[in-house]
Amino acid sequence: MTKKVMVVASRNRKKAREIVEILKGLDWKVVSMLDAGADFEVVEDGTTFEENSYKKALEVMRATGLTAIADDSGLEVDALCGRPGVYSARFSGENATDASNNLKLLEMMEHVPKDKRTARFVCAATVVFPDDAYFTVRGECEGRILFGPKGTGGFGYDPLFYLPGYGKTFAQLDARTKNSISHRARAFSKVREQLASLGGGTGLENRRTKRQPR
Ligand code: IMP
Repeated sequence: MTKKVMVVASRNRKKAREIVEILKGLDWKVVSMLDAGADFEVVEDGTTFEENSYKKALEVMRATGLTAIADDSGLEVDALCGRPGVYSARFSGENATDASNNLKLLEMMEHVPKDKRTARFVCAATVVFPDDAYFTVRGECEGRILFGPKGTGGFGYDPLFYLPGYGKTFAQLDARTKNSISHRARAFSKVREQLASLGGGTGLENRRTKRQPR
């Protein structure tokens, strides 16, 4: 049987490759949007991770006519009412770097006591099919924000994100462990489950699936 094609809605080749790897073994041939001839930026102006991942997948599905998958992720800090949230990448401004974002986070939390420094990484992933049917899943990973960075691995807020169960930050964990417990891992394992359960067709008519008005 010929495999159905799914396009990863990300121009980031590293991320696209990672998603292709994660979805291996399913009844889908997964390709990056660049390899599918779609080279454009989707404006991420949603107020939730779900909205942004849906918007990215929808625009790439419409541009290619193929099923598309997108994810959107970030950090939610309870003491900051969920910030930086969908603004995680640009928390400290237009030219934000991981270092400037981490510094801003530490400054804003300077007076927050240890027991109030709870936070989670969140990842929403959406698959949109050519008939506009779609599903969205969410993965979360709970932790705490430290008073200073620890560890050199990973990226983004990893050096400040401490997992009490492991006694380490994401930046101190080996990549294999991080990639098995992270918000992304959890979201994508749900994507795999959903796709596997759909089998041949989308079968979404019978599930809790939303259809967008045309
Ligand atoms: P994206 O939606 O996956 O591109 O993530 C947006 C931003 O969230 C990144 O630029 C990081 O600042 C932050 N982020 C997402 N996932 C992680 C992670 O696993 N570790 C650290 N920071 C992350």
